Parts: sequence; C-alpha cells; structure tokens
Amino acid sequence: MIDTHCHFDIMPKPEAYIRQKEQAGDIVIGMTNLPSHFKLGIPFIRNYKHIRLALGLHPLLAADNIRETNLFREYINQTSYIGEIGLDFSKACIGTKDVQISVLKELLAALQGKNKIVSVHSRKAEKVLLALLCEYDIKNVIFHWYSGPTALIPEILSKGYYFSINESMTLSNNGRSIIDMIPRNRILTESDAPYNEKSDIKKAMANIQITEAEIFRNFSELLSRVR
Ligand SMILES: [Zn+2]
Repeated sequence: MIDTHCHFDIMPKPEAYIRQKEQAGDIVIGMTNLPSHFKLGIPFIRNYKHIRLALGLHPLLAADNIRETNLFREYINQTSYIGEIGLDFSKACIGTKDVQISVLKELLAALQGKNKIVSVHSRKAEKVLLALLCEYDIKNVIFHWYSGPTALIPEILSKGYYFSINESMTLSNNGRSIIDMIPRNRILTESDAPYNEKSDIKKAMANIQITEAEIFRNFSELLSRVR
C-alpha cells in the first residue's frame, strides 16, 4: 500500500508504526508540520527502505513560526518530499491569511527549480494556492484531501498535479463528487493518520474500485519525474 500523506511523527509510537509498515512492504511518506520536526525525525528514518520523511511547515503553524523558514531552506536538500505546506482560509484560520501567504511564498521561492514531490493543504484556499503554485512554477504537486470547488479540478489536472484521496473522502458525497472528476491515473492514496478517523487505505481503494496496482503505477510515474 502507498500512503502519500501520513503524520507518523505525532503518533504515540512512531517507530513501532513505521517498523510495521516497512515489514508489510508499504510505502509511507511522513509529513512534518515544522522544519524543526523534520530535523528531529530524519536521523530515525534514514535506515528504512520504504519510509520517507517530508519537510513541511503547516499553514496553521506558520504565523507563530515564521523563523522556521530558515530551517526549511537549510534542510531542503535532504529529502525529495515536501509537506505539509499550503494555505488554510477556513473560519478558524482566516485571521492569519496574510502571514500564511507570505510564509508560503518564502517556501515556494526556496523550492523553485528543485525537483520535489510536494503534498499540499488547500482548505478554503484552493484558488489562491493554485495561483501561487503556478506563479512559482512548482511541479509534482499532490493536492491532499481536496475539498474545494469541483470547477477548479480541471485546471489543477492541467498542471499535471495529482490528488491523494482517503477513506473519509470515499464515504462522503462531496468527496465522491470530487473523486469522480479525477482521472484514475492521477489518483494516489493517503491516510492522513492520526488526524483522520477513517484512514483505512484498503477500504478507500475498495470504495472507489481502484486497485493497488493502479495506485502503484501512478506513484511510480510521479516518482520517475524526480529521479
Ligand atoms: Zn495532514
């Protein structure tokens, strides 16, 4: 199984979790919410074959951690995976809109010209985020748990971007109408564990009748672009 968006670093026993995934042959990309978390975690991950750690700065933490952008730049060459980064303009977070944008611009500037796989958070900020990704010419983006307007999906696809879907999405009407608009070769799977109550990837695949082989092919295609 392939989990392109997981938060094992905030689980109670991260090492037990990833050891079990590694033994099962699963590929797991661990998000980090701050570059300092990446710095702490990366020494523990290096010996794993299928587990990767992404360098991130979560939009909800951006306002209180502006100086972490320095660490982001410092560690950017230590991984091919970036996440979780993005924007969140939902009610609880709209107050930090401007600082979120300025922090994200710094991250995108640092990413310019680098070949990474980038998992993004876009809640209620899909249009602004997409415009910024285009402005900075960011490639290989995965829209994680997309819940925005379906009208924007064709434009996201036209950039060659992917969508990572989870079990919760496959169980909601809104999620299903989004998934219906995504061609099968642009779908990836994610758990978003432990934040997501319904995070079973096998069930997600069964619910939308997509096979592990298809997901593997999609991920391999994306991976081939950064190698
Ligand atoms: Zn997440």
